[in-house]
Amino acid sequence: MARRILLLGPPGAGKGTQATLIASALHVPHISTGAMLRAAVAAGTRLGKQAESVMASGELVSDELVVAIVDERLSQDDARCGYLLDGFPRNVAQAEALNDSVVDAIGTVVLLNVDTEEVIVRMMRRAEEEGRSDDNEEAIRRRLEVYSGETTPLVTFYDSAVLEVDGMGSVEAIFSRIMIALAKS
Ligand code: AMP
Repeated sequence: MARRILLLGPPGAGKGTQATLIASALHVPHISTGAMLRAAVAAGTRLGKQAESVMASGELVSDELVVAIVDERLSQDDARCGYLLDGFPRNVAQAEALNDSVVDAIGTVVLLNVDTEEVIVRMMRRAEEEGRSDDNEEAIRRRLEVYSGETTPLVTFYDSAVLEVDGMGSVEAIFSRIMIALAKS
C-alpha cells in the first residue's frame, strides 16, 4: 500500500530525526522542505538567496515558492509509491494547494506532541551542534508562534487522518510509538 504520510509537530520536536527513521523503515523518500531550502541556501542558488533571510528570521518562505519545490519533488519517480513529508504543508493554503495538485496527497498525519519547554531545550542544544541560523532565541520564539498560528490549524484540516503520538522521551521510544500507531492505522 502506498503510504503518504505527513509528519507534523512543533519546531524542535525531532521531526527530522524521526522522519529519517520512518522513511527508511517504510522504504519511502523523506521529503523535507526545510532541508531542501537549506541545501539551496548552502548552494547559493537564486531560490536559496530568496529564502535565506526569511528562514533566519523564523518566518515562512512564500507558499508559491515551497509549493513549486514540492510539486516538482513529488513528480519524481521515487515518490510514486509513497512518501514522508516533513515540514510541508505548513499552513492551510499549502495543504489546499497540495490537494489541488495531487489526488489523496496525504493519507496519514503523525502529530508529534512535545512540551514547549522541551522543544526550546532541543533547539538550543541543536544550535551548538549544528549551528542552524534559525536556532537562536528570537527566531525560535517566532517559529513557535508561526507553528501555533499557522500550522496547528492543519490538525483540524486533516481531522480523522491525524494520529497523535507522544513525542517525549528517547529517539527509540518515540520511533517505536510512531511505528505502532502507523501499523494500527
Ligand atoms: P524546518 O527545517 O522544517 O524547521 O524549516 C526551516 C525553515 O524553512 C522554516 O522556518 C521556514 O523558514 C522554511 N520552511 C520550511 N518548510 C516550509 C514551508 N512548508 N513553508 C514555508 N517555509 C518553510
